[in-house]
Amino acid sequence: MLGGGQLGRMFALAARQSGYRVIVFGDPDDSPAGQVSDQCFDAPFRDLDALRAFAKMVDVVTFEQENIPVATVEALQEIVPVHPGPDLLRASQNRLLEKTSLRQIGIPTADFVRVTSAAELRQAIVRFGGDAILKTVTLGYDGKGQARVRSTSNCDEIWNQLLVNEAIVERVVDFAFELSIVASRFGDASCAFFAPVLNHHVNHILDVSVSRSPLITEVQSLSATDIARAVLEHFRVVGVLCVEFFATTDGQLIVNEIAPRPHNSGHLTIDACRSSQFEQQLRAVCGMPSGDVSVLRPAAMVNLLGEHLQDATAERWKSVFAMPGVHVHLYGKSEARIGRKMGHLTATDETAAKAERLVRAARDCLQGV
Ligand code: AMP
Repeated sequence: MLGGGQLGRMFALAARQSGYRVIVFGDPDDSPAGQVSDQCFDAPFRDLDALRAFAKMVDVVTFEQENIPVATVEALQEIVPVHPGPDLLRASQNRLLEKTSLRQIGIPTADFVRVTSAAELRQAIVRFGGDAILKTVTLGYDGKGQARVRSTSNCDEIWNQLLVNEAIVERVVDFAFELSIVASRFGDASCAFFAPVLNHHVNHILDVSVSRSPLITEVQSLSATDIARAVLEHFRVVGVLCVEFFATTDGQLIVNEIAPRPHNSGHLTIDACRSSQFEQQLRAVCGMPSGDVSVLRPAAMVNLLGEHLQDATAERWKSVFAMPGVHVHLYGKSEARIGRKMGHLTATDETAAKAERLVRAARDCLQGV
Protein backbone atom coordinates (compact mmCIF):
# COMPACT_ATOMS: atom_id res chain seq x y z
CA MET A 1 0.00 0.00 0.00
CA LEU A 2 1.47 3.32 -1.07
CA GLY A 3 0.40 5.80 1.60
CA GLY A 4 -0.51 5.27 5.23
CA GLY A 5 -3.67 7.36 5.70
CA GLN A 6 -7.17 6.29 6.70
CA LEU A 7 -7.99 4.81 3.30
CA GLY A 8 -4.91 2.61 3.60
CA ARG A 9 -6.00 1.70 7.11
CA MET A 10 -9.47 0.55 6.06
CA PHE A 11 -7.91 -1.38 3.15
CA ALA A 12 -5.45 -3.07 5.50
CA LEU A 13 -8.24 -4.03 7.90
CA ALA A 14 -10.16 -5.64 5.02
CA ALA A 15 -7.01 -7.34 3.73
CA ARG A 16 -6.02 -8.78 7.10
CA GLN A 17 -9.52 -10.11 7.65
CA SER A 18 -8.92 -12.26 4.57
CA GLY A 19 -5.48 -13.30 5.77
CA TYR A 20 -3.35 -11.07 3.56
CA ARG A 21 -0.28 -9.34 4.90
CA VAL A 22 0.11 -5.62 4.26
CA ILE A 23 3.23 -3.49 3.94
CA VAL A 24 2.82 0.29 3.90
CA PHE A 25 5.20 2.51 1.97
CA GLY A 26 5.57 6.23 2.62
CA ASP A 27 4.42 6.59 6.22
CA PRO A 28 5.56 5.53 9.71
CA ASP A 29 4.44 2.67 11.97
CA ASP A 30 2.16 5.06 13.83
CA SER A 31 0.28 6.23 10.72
CA PRO A 32 -3.40 5.21 10.46
CA ALA A 33 -2.53 2.36 8.07
CA GLY A 34 0.81 1.59 9.73
CA GLN A 35 -0.93 0.82 13.02
CA VAL A 36 -2.84 -2.09 11.46
CA SER A 37 -0.25 -3.33 8.94
CA ASP A 38 2.60 -5.82 9.17
CA GLN A 39 5.42 -3.46 8.27
CA CYS A 40 6.13 0.12 7.16
CA PHE A 41 8.73 1.68 4.89
CA ASP A 42 8.87 5.24 6.18
CA ALA A 43 10.68 6.57 3.10
CA PRO A 44 9.94 9.28 0.52
CA PHE A 45 8.04 8.21 -2.63
CA ARG A 46 11.08 9.21 -4.70
CA ASP A 47 13.54 6.98 -2.80
CA LEU A 48 14.25 4.40 -5.53
CA ASP A 49 16.36 2.10 -3.34
CA ALA A 50 13.63 1.90 -0.71
CA LEU A 51 10.98 1.39 -3.42
CA ARG A 52 12.95 -1.51 -4.92
CA ALA A 53 13.42 -3.14 -1.51
CA PHE A 54 9.68 -2.75 -0.85
CA ALA A 55 8.70 -4.09 -4.29
CA LYS A 56 10.73 -7.26 -3.74
CA MET A 57 8.77 -8.03 -0.56
CA VAL A 58 5.25 -7.80 -2.00
CA ASP A 59 3.12 -9.58 -4.63
CA VAL A 60 1.07 -6.57 -5.71
CA VAL A 61 1.00 -2.82 -5.05
CA THR A 62 -1.92 -0.40 -4.82
CA PHE A 63 -2.30 3.13 -3.46
CA GLU A 64 -4.64 5.10 -1.23
CA GLN A 65 -4.04 8.67 -2.41
CA GLU A 66 -3.51 10.36 -5.77
CA ASN A 67 -0.48 12.45 -4.93
CA ILE A 68 1.92 9.55 -5.45
CA PRO A 69 4.42 10.54 -8.18
CA VAL A 70 3.64 8.70 -11.44
CA ALA A 71 7.39 7.94 -11.67
CA THR A 72 7.08 5.97 -8.42
CA VAL A 73 4.38 3.75 -9.89
CA GLU A 74 6.38 3.32 -13.11
CA ALA A 75 9.52 2.32 -11.19
CA LEU A 76 7.57 -0.21 -9.12
CA GLN A 77 5.85 -1.63 -12.20
CA GLU A 78 9.18 -2.90 -13.48
CA ILE A 79 9.36 -5.25 -10.50
CA VAL A 80 5.79 -5.96 -9.38
CA PRO A 81 2.23 -5.40 -10.68
CA VAL A 82 0.72 -2.05 -9.61
CA HIS A 83 -3.09 -1.69 -9.72
CA PRO A 84 -4.49 0.62 -10.93
CA GLY A 85 -1.65 1.50 -13.30
CA PRO A 86 -0.30 5.01 -13.95
CA ASP A 87 -2.85 6.19 -16.57
CA LEU A 88 -5.72 6.97 -14.23
CA LEU A 89 -3.31 8.27 -11.60
CA ARG A 90 -1.78 10.73 -14.08
CA ALA A 91 -5.20 12.04 -15.14
CA SER A 92 -6.52 12.40 -11.60
CA GLN A 93 -3.45 14.45 -10.62
CA ASN A 94 -4.10 17.08 -13.25
CA ARG A 95 -7.49 18.75 -13.59
CA LEU A 96 -6.80 19.77 -17.19
CA LEU A 97 -5.80 16.30 -18.31
CA GLU A 98 -8.70 14.82 -16.33
CA LYS A 99 -11.35 17.06 -17.88
CA THR A 100 -9.86 16.81 -21.37
CA SER A 101 -9.75 12.99 -21.18
CA LEU A 102 -13.37 12.88 -19.96
CA ARG A 103 -14.57 15.14 -22.75
CA GLN A 104 -12.71 13.00 -25.31
CA ILE A 105 -14.82 10.03 -24.31
CA GLY A 106 -18.03 12.08 -24.37
CA ILE A 107 -18.49 12.59 -20.64
CA PRO A 108 -19.88 16.01 -19.63
CA THR A 109 -17.82 18.23 -17.31
CA ALA A 110 -18.28 21.87 -16.25
CA ASP A 111 -17.16 24.30 -18.98
CA PHE A 112 -13.54 25.19 -18.32
CA VAL A 113 -10.63 27.13 -19.72
CA ARG A 114 -6.89 27.01 -19.00
CA VAL A 115 -5.37 30.29 -17.78
CA THR A 116 -1.72 31.25 -17.36
CA SER A 117 -1.90 34.91 -16.27
CA ALA A 118 -4.04 37.50 -14.50
CA ALA A 119 -5.14 38.83 -17.91
CA GLU A 120 -6.34 35.38 -19.01
CA LEU A 121 -8.07 34.95 -15.68
CA ARG A 122 -9.94 38.22 -16.27
CA GLN A 123 -11.01 37.08 -19.77
CA ALA A 124 -12.21 33.76 -18.38
CA ILE A 125 -14.29 35.44 -15.67
CA VAL A 126 -15.95 37.62 -18.32
CA ARG A 127 -16.54 34.55 -20.52
CA PHE A 128 -18.34 32.78 -17.66
CA GLY A 129 -20.59 35.75 -16.89
CA GLY A 130 -18.58 37.45 -14.15
CA ASP A 131 -18.66 34.53 -11.70
CA ALA A 132 -16.46 31.43 -11.90
CA ILE A 133 -14.27 29.04 -9.92
CA LEU A 134 -10.50 29.20 -10.19
CA LYS A 135 -8.67 25.95 -9.37
CA THR A 136 -5.03 24.94 -9.40
CA VAL A 137 -4.29 22.26 -12.00
CA THR A 138 -2.46 20.00 -9.54
CA LEU A 139 -2.55 19.25 -5.81
CA GLY A 140 -6.09 20.43 -5.19
CA TYR A 141 -8.52 18.48 -2.99
CA ASP A 142 -11.26 19.23 -0.45
CA GLY A 143 -11.50 22.77 -1.87
CA LYS A 144 -7.78 23.49 -1.40
CA GLY A 145 -6.19 25.53 -4.19
CA GLN A 146 -9.61 26.84 -5.15
CA ALA A 147 -11.22 30.31 -5.19
CA ARG A 148 -14.60 31.66 -6.26
CA VAL A 149 -14.03 34.78 -8.36
CA ARG A 150 -17.09 37.03 -8.56
CA SER A 151 -15.63 40.06 -10.28
CA THR A 152 -12.82 41.05 -12.63
CA SER A 153 -11.65 43.84 -10.31
CA ASN A 154 -9.21 41.83 -8.16
CA CYS A 155 -7.87 39.30 -10.70
CA ASP A 156 -4.27 40.49 -10.32
CA GLU A 157 -4.32 39.96 -6.58
CA ILE A 158 -6.04 36.58 -6.80
CA TRP A 159 -3.69 35.37 -9.53
CA ASN A 160 -0.58 36.46 -7.64
CA GLN A 161 -1.74 34.71 -4.48
CA LEU A 162 -2.15 31.41 -6.33
CA LEU A 163 1.62 31.14 -6.98
CA VAL A 164 1.29 28.86 -10.03
CA ASN A 165 2.00 29.14 -13.76
CA GLU A 166 -1.24 27.62 -14.92
CA ALA A 167 -4.70 27.13 -13.52
CA ILE A 168 -8.18 26.22 -14.66
CA VAL A 169 -11.29 28.39 -14.53
CA GLU A 170 -14.63 26.60 -14.39
CA ARG A 171 -18.17 27.79 -14.93
CA VAL A 172 -20.17 27.64 -11.66
CA VAL A 173 -22.53 24.69 -12.00
CA ASP A 174 -26.04 25.39 -10.73
CA PHE A 175 -26.54 22.02 -9.08
CA ALA A 176 -29.50 20.58 -7.21
CA PHE A 177 -27.26 18.19 -5.29
CA GLU A 178 -23.96 16.32 -5.50
CA LEU A 179 -23.57 12.57 -5.81
CA SER A 180 -20.84 10.02 -6.35
CA ILE A 181 -20.43 6.43 -7.39
CA VAL A 182 -17.75 3.98 -6.32
CA ALA A 183 -16.96 1.33 -8.90
CA SER A 184 -14.46 -1.48 -9.35
CA ARG A 185 -13.00 -3.33 -12.32
CA PHE A 186 -11.33 -6.71 -12.20
CA GLY A 187 -8.57 -8.54 -14.06
CA ASP A 188 -11.13 -10.28 -16.31
CA ALA A 189 -12.52 -6.83 -17.31
CA SER A 190 -15.76 -7.32 -15.36
CA CYS A 191 -17.05 -4.34 -13.36
CA ALA A 192 -19.14 -3.84 -10.21
CA PHE A 193 -20.90 -0.67 -9.08
CA PHE A 194 -22.10 0.40 -5.66
CA ALA A 195 -25.38 2.33 -5.56
CA PRO A 196 -24.68 6.06 -6.05
CA VAL A 197 -24.55 8.14 -2.89
CA LEU A 198 -25.87 11.66 -2.24
CA ASN A 199 -23.24 14.00 -0.77
CA HIS A 200 -23.44 17.20 1.28
CA HIS A 201 -20.28 19.30 1.53
CA VAL A 202 -19.43 21.95 4.14
CA ASN A 203 -16.55 24.32 3.34
CA HIS A 204 -15.79 22.14 0.28
CA ILE A 205 -15.19 19.10 2.51
CA LEU A 206 -17.53 16.11 2.43
CA ASP A 207 -19.79 16.27 5.47
CA VAL A 208 -22.61 13.74 4.99
CA SER A 209 -23.21 10.89 2.50
CA VAL A 210 -26.54 9.12 2.08
CA SER A 211 -27.06 5.80 0.32
CA ARG A 212 -30.43 4.96 -1.25
CA SER A 213 -31.50 8.61 -1.17
CA PRO A 214 -34.86 9.01 -2.94
CA LEU A 215 -33.51 12.24 -4.52
CA ILE A 216 -31.33 10.16 -6.87
CA THR A 217 -33.57 8.92 -9.69
CA GLU A 218 -33.27 5.55 -11.40
CA VAL A 219 -32.21 7.33 -14.59
CA GLN A 220 -29.45 9.21 -12.73
CA SER A 221 -28.27 5.96 -11.12
CA LEU A 222 -28.02 4.27 -14.50
CA SER A 223 -26.29 7.28 -16.00
CA ALA A 224 -23.75 7.39 -13.12
CA THR A 225 -23.08 3.68 -13.65
CA ASP A 226 -22.60 4.11 -17.42
CA ILE A 227 -20.16 6.99 -16.88
CA ALA A 228 -18.18 5.09 -14.24
CA ARG A 229 -17.98 2.09 -16.59
CA ALA A 230 -16.70 4.30 -19.41
CA VAL A 231 -13.99 5.75 -17.15
CA LEU A 232 -12.95 2.32 -15.82
CA GLU A 233 -12.69 0.99 -19.37
CA HIS A 234 -10.99 4.04 -20.87
CA PHE A 235 -8.19 3.91 -18.28
CA ARG A 236 -8.20 0.05 -18.19
CA VAL A 237 -8.44 0.24 -14.42
CA VAL A 238 -7.95 -2.79 -12.24
CA GLY A 239 -9.02 -1.56 -8.82
CA VAL A 240 -11.52 0.91 -7.39
CA LEU A 241 -12.37 4.46 -8.37
CA CYS A 242 -14.93 7.07 -7.46
CA VAL A 243 -16.62 9.50 -9.83
CA GLU A 244 -18.07 12.65 -8.25
CA PHE A 245 -20.95 14.42 -10.00
CA PHE A 246 -23.13 17.48 -9.87
CA ALA A 247 -26.82 16.75 -10.55
CA THR A 248 -28.08 19.87 -12.30
CA THR A 249 -31.50 21.32 -11.62
CA ASP A 250 -32.75 19.75 -14.89
CA GLY A 251 -31.57 16.29 -13.79
CA GLN A 252 -28.36 15.96 -15.86
CA LEU A 253 -25.13 14.61 -14.42
CA ILE A 254 -21.88 16.54 -14.82
CA VAL A 255 -18.62 15.00 -13.65
CA ASN A 256 -16.64 17.11 -11.18
CA GLU A 257 -13.77 14.81 -10.26
CA ILE A 258 -12.38 11.30 -10.33
CA ALA A 259 -10.55 9.65 -7.46
CA PRO A 260 -8.37 6.66 -8.50
CA ARG A 261 -9.06 4.84 -5.23
CA PRO A 262 -11.80 4.22 -2.65
CA HIS A 263 -13.47 7.44 -1.54
CA ASN A 264 -14.79 9.09 1.60
CA SER A 265 -18.34 8.86 0.20
CA GLY A 266 -17.94 5.06 0.00
CA HIS A 267 -17.10 4.54 3.66
CA LEU A 268 -20.71 3.64 4.42
CA THR A 269 -20.29 0.50 2.28
CA ILE A 270 -18.38 -1.05 5.22
CA ASP A 271 -21.58 -1.25 7.25
CA ALA A 272 -24.22 -1.14 4.51
CA CYS A 273 -22.99 -3.66 1.92
CA ARG A 274 -21.74 -7.26 2.00
CA SER A 275 -18.50 -6.30 0.27
CA SER A 276 -17.13 -2.85 1.17
CA GLN A 277 -15.23 -0.56 -1.19
CA PHE A 278 -12.02 -1.70 0.54
CA GLU A 279 -12.84 -5.37 0.10
CA GLN A 280 -13.53 -4.60 -3.58
CA GLN A 281 -10.13 -2.92 -3.84
CA LEU A 282 -8.51 -5.96 -2.22
CA ARG A 283 -10.34 -8.40 -4.49
CA ALA A 284 -9.56 -6.42 -7.65
CA VAL A 285 -5.86 -5.83 -7.03
CA CYS A 286 -5.27 -9.39 -5.77
CA GLY A 287 -6.89 -11.00 -8.83
CA MET A 288 -10.01 -12.21 -7.05
CA PRO A 289 -13.60 -11.86 -8.37
CA SER A 290 -16.02 -9.15 -7.20
CA GLY A 291 -17.91 -9.41 -3.94
CA ASP A 292 -21.61 -8.61 -3.48
CA VAL A 293 -21.95 -4.82 -3.65
CA SER A 294 -25.70 -4.60 -3.14
CA VAL A 295 -26.92 -2.39 -0.29
CA LEU A 296 -28.29 -4.46 2.60
CA ARG A 297 -29.89 -1.46 4.36
CA PRO A 298 -30.17 2.27 3.66
CA ALA A 299 -27.24 4.04 5.31
CA ALA A 300 -25.79 7.46 6.00
CA MET A 301 -22.34 8.61 7.07
CA VAL A 302 -21.04 11.75 8.76
CA ASN A 303 -17.40 12.70 8.83
CA LEU A 304 -15.77 13.41 12.17
CA LEU A 305 -13.34 16.28 11.71
CA GLY A 306 -11.07 17.63 14.43
CA GLU A 307 -13.60 20.32 15.35
CA HIS A 308 -16.37 17.76 15.88
CA LEU A 309 -14.33 15.99 18.56
CA GLN A 310 -13.24 18.98 20.60
CA ASP A 311 -15.92 18.42 23.28
CA ALA A 312 -16.36 14.67 22.87
CA THR A 313 -16.16 13.46 26.49
CA ALA A 314 -16.10 9.79 27.45
CA GLU A 315 -19.76 10.11 28.54
CA ARG A 316 -20.76 11.41 25.11
CA TRP A 317 -18.86 8.61 23.38
CA LYS A 318 -20.72 6.11 25.58
CA SER A 319 -24.03 7.57 24.46
CA VAL A 320 -23.01 7.23 20.80
CA PHE A 321 -21.82 3.64 21.25
CA ALA A 322 -25.21 2.94 22.88
CA MET A 323 -27.19 4.08 19.82
CA PRO A 324 -28.51 1.02 17.94
CA GLY A 325 -27.55 1.07 14.26
CA VAL A 326 -24.65 3.52 14.71
CA HIS A 327 -21.13 2.33 13.86
CA VAL A 328 -18.04 4.20 15.07
CA HIS A 329 -14.91 4.32 12.88
CA LEU A 330 -11.83 6.18 14.16
CA TYR A 331 -8.57 6.40 12.27
CA GLY A 332 -6.06 6.31 15.13
CA LYS A 333 -4.87 9.90 14.67
CA SER A 334 -3.64 11.42 17.91
CA GLU A 335 -4.05 15.12 17.18
CA ALA A 336 -7.56 16.45 16.43
CA ARG A 337 -6.77 19.51 14.29
CA ILE A 338 -9.50 21.66 12.71
CA GLY A 339 -10.47 20.21 9.31
CA ARG A 340 -8.55 16.96 9.86
CA LYS A 341 -10.49 13.78 9.11
CA MET A 342 -10.37 11.87 12.41
CA GLY A 343 -13.04 9.27 11.74
CA HIS A 344 -16.63 8.79 10.63
CA LEU A 345 -19.94 7.49 11.90
CA THR A 346 -22.29 5.35 9.84
CA ALA A 347 -25.92 4.60 10.65
CA THR A 348 -28.15 2.04 8.98
CA ASP A 349 -31.92 2.18 9.26
CA GLU A 350 -35.18 1.33 7.47
CA THR A 351 -35.00 4.39 5.22
CA ALA A 352 -32.28 6.74 4.04
CA ALA A 353 -33.98 9.65 5.83
CA LYS A 354 -34.02 7.77 9.15
CA ALA A 355 -30.37 6.74 8.74
CA GLU A 356 -29.39 10.34 8.01
CA ARG A 357 -31.31 11.66 11.03
CA LEU A 358 -29.75 9.03 13.27
CA VAL A 359 -26.18 9.61 12.16
CA ARG A 360 -26.51 13.40 12.43
CA ALA A 361 -27.99 12.97 15.92
CA ALA A 362 -25.02 10.79 16.89
CA ARG A 363 -22.55 13.48 15.83
CA ASP A 364 -24.63 16.17 17.58
CA CYS A 365 -24.48 14.07 20.71
CA LEU A 366 -20.66 13.97 20.55
CA GLN A 367 -20.62 17.73 20.23
CA GLY A 368 -23.14 18.27 23.01
CA VAL A 369 -25.59 19.93 20.60
P1 AMP B 1 -13.33 19.97 -5.86
O1 AMP B 1 -12.13 20.38 -5.06
O2 AMP B 1 -13.23 20.25 -7.31
O3 AMP B 1 -13.78 18.57 -5.55
O4 AMP B 1 -14.52 20.89 -5.32
C1 AMP B 1 -14.99 20.80 -3.99
C2 AMP B 1 -16.42 21.28 -3.95
O5 AMP B 1 -16.52 22.64 -4.45
C3 AMP B 1 -17.38 20.48 -4.82
O6 AMP B 1 -17.79 19.30 -4.19
C4 AMP B 1 -18.50 21.50 -5.00
O7 AMP B 1 -19.31 21.57 -3.84
C5 AMP B 1 -17.75 22.81 -5.17
N1 AMP B 1 -17.44 23.06 -6.61
C6 AMP B 1 -16.31 22.72 -7.25
N2 AMP B 1 -16.37 23.05 -8.57
C7 AMP B 1 -17.58 23.63 -8.78
C8 AMP B 1 -18.25 24.16 -9.94
N3 AMP B 1 -17.68 24.23 -11.15
N4 AMP B 1 -19.50 24.64 -9.75
C9 AMP B 1 -20.10 24.63 -8.53
N5 AMP B 1 -19.53 24.13 -7.41
C10 AMP B 1 -18.27 23.62 -7.51
